[in-house]
Amino acid sequence: MAVIVDDVTFGYHQRPVLQNVSFEIDQGRLAILLGRNGSGKSTLIKIIAGLLSAVSGTIRVMGRELKVLRSAERAKTIGYLPQFHQPVFQYSVEDVVLTGRVAYIWNAPGHSDRQIAQRALQTVGIEHLRDRPYTELSGGERQLVMFARVLAQEPDIILLDEPVSHLDLANQIQLLTMLKRMTQAGCTVLAALHDPNIASRFGDQFIFLKNSRIASPPNREFPWDSDFLSSIYSVQLETIRSNGKPLIFPVLENTQLPPGPKGPPSIDLTPS
Ligand code: ATP
Ligand code: MG
Repeated sequence: MAVIVDDVTFGYHQRPVLQNVSFEIDQGRLAILLGRNGSGKSTLIKIIAGLLSAVSGTIRVMGRELKVLRSAERAKTIGYLPQFHQPVFQYSVEDVVLTGRVAYIWNAPGHSDRQIAQRALQTVGIEHLRDRPYTELSGGERQLVMFARVLAQEPDIILLDEPVSHLDLANQIQLLTMLKRMTQAGCTVLAALHDPNIASRFGDQFIFLKNSRIASPPNREFPWDSDFLSSIYSVQLETIRSNGKPLIFPVLENTQLPPGPKGPPSIDLTPS
């Protein structure tokens, strides 16, 4: 097993966010984490990345307990793409991608580090952005740069927190296809995604969070059952099976929508 999460419990300010969470991811699998806003996906990913410490429970990565890994070892084992990234300096795209090599660099980046960064830019298809200041990029371009940075890190395990949230459909498919290929080459991936239609197309394994716990679908082979998904997302959903894959869509006619925001007072726009 590449990742073992065993009985992890965590809370912020005594408020529980994850309770007795356990799951395993086999090496070379693409696991997808699903759940509503605030269900604890980012928190769980940060715990596996070693950025937060669980109150109890253990994490093992590539056969070793996470807490015994020194930071350079951890960076070579686990790559992490955060949900939000606040750039501080006006680094060029190339320099941002090179920061992915930090665990390998002793003093200054060498020729091979630059080659690896260049290859990561090529793989993601963003070589044309290489010399642009990162701070001037669009949201989707930044997300692709951060993905290239994780690739340059060459980790065994990649944790991605909503990696496609800013991407157009073509780039979503491209990035997820790339991840799939990387798993076929032995890399292990855990990604938080919101769209079950996209998730079901690419994932090998699905982990659902609800009320701070893992929710287990009645049928593990096909976890897209309408009732189960409707309970996960608290909205009525319907699933149609098409060639073994689900097509999931909302049932709007029975949905009680909450009242919308009031909005600004109306103004008279007729020319005087
Ligand atoms: P989203 O889909 O919106 O990204 P999520 O599933 O990633 O949500 P988390 O970010 O893990 O959810 O948050 C889980 C809960 O913990 C939420 O109720 C959130 O308000 C709370 N939380 C997250 N970070 C902190 C923090 N630093 N301090 C206190 N509470 C926090
Ligand atoms: Mg999140």
